[in-house]
Amino acid sequence: KAKDHGRDCFQFYTSVMHQHAKARSVLESALHKALSNRELSLVYQPIFAQLGSAEVVGCEVLLRWKSELLGHVSPEQFIPVCEELGLILPIGEWVLYHACSQAKAWQDNYGNPLFIAVNVSSIQFKRQDMVELVKKVLRDTKLEAKYLTLEITESVLVDNSDKILAQLKALRALGVELAIDDFGTGYSSLSYLKRFPLSKLKIDRTFIRDLPEDEEDKALVSAIILMAHKLNLKVIAEGVETPAQCMFLKGLLCDMTQGYFHSKPLNQSDFEENILTTAYHKQNHN
Ligand code: C2E
Ligand code: MG
Ligand code: MG
Ligand code: MG
Repeated sequence: KAKDHGRDCFQFYTSVMHQHAKARSVLESALHKALSNRELSLVYQPIFAQLGSAEVVGCEVLLRWKSELLGHVSPEQFIPVCEELGLILPIGEWVLYHACSQAKAWQDNYGNPLFIAVNVSSIQFKRQDMVELVKKVLRDTKLEAKYLTLEITESVLVDNSDKILAQLKALRALGVELAIDDFGTGYSSLSYLKRFPLSKLKIDRTFIRDLPEDEEDKALVSAIILMAHKLNLKVIAEGVETPAQCMFLKGLLCDMTQGYFHSKPLNQSDFEENILTTAYHKQNHN
């Protein structure tokens, strides 16, 4: 009886594996065509200063994929596959180029010097000369280096390679800013905060979600902000969804906030209409 049961499990398992493998190969072949079929697009989520005038100071660029075959696929699903297939190199280059030229166009058209934050995968640092790429993109788009922030996760830093450290130092020397993304969710060594030339720290939204009620999260978030400020890092809270969270973070002197409370990620025209036009008017009428 137990044997029968085991066999059923095995059959179930192989059928799930098979379906999984099939879905995966469909995803892979669809991804190969995504860039040339113009199925990729960018959305922009505003980042707000928390202290002082509470105005928009920057935005994060987020990749969207609407596949002809599969419909909308979330970056959490397709980015890891892009990384495995090496497709993150051409796609990452496309994102960087478009993000920088968009930021430059917005500065020129709206007179609003926003920074633009671009997510960069560890694969890009390992398999590409990011310094040469960034230099070329900044030159082509005429965006000043100080308006570009590269968001990297702890996985880039734990790699511990001299090659990556050298690239990050060279990027910083160009004037590009570096942010550590999803802080607190990766590996627990803090030594990289000292070794790497970071300028911003983004607290992962899992620590923000249960604020201001959860006592442990309150303790962690206030300690992270204090530590970051001592290390001369600006702090951005991710996933801020409620006014209470925003108020609480302001009380802790968190520098910037990002999340649905202010705005979801917006396409170019909505960002211009809802964010830039308002900021533009504010600037001119004050
Ligand atoms: P991330 O860099 O941590 O980006 C923040 C994610 O949180 C985004 O998810 C954003 O839509 C979501 N978010 C923002 N505010 C809120 C909020 O208030 N509540 C909640 N629940 N979520 C919020 P998204 O766009 O699905 O992207 C997921 C991840 O995919 C990103 O996490 C990033 O790691 C990766 N990703 C996105 N675009 C790119 C890209 O161009 N290149 C690379 N390498 N990775 C990217
Ligand atoms: Mg990010
Ligand atoms: Mg994040
Ligand atoms: Mg994330």
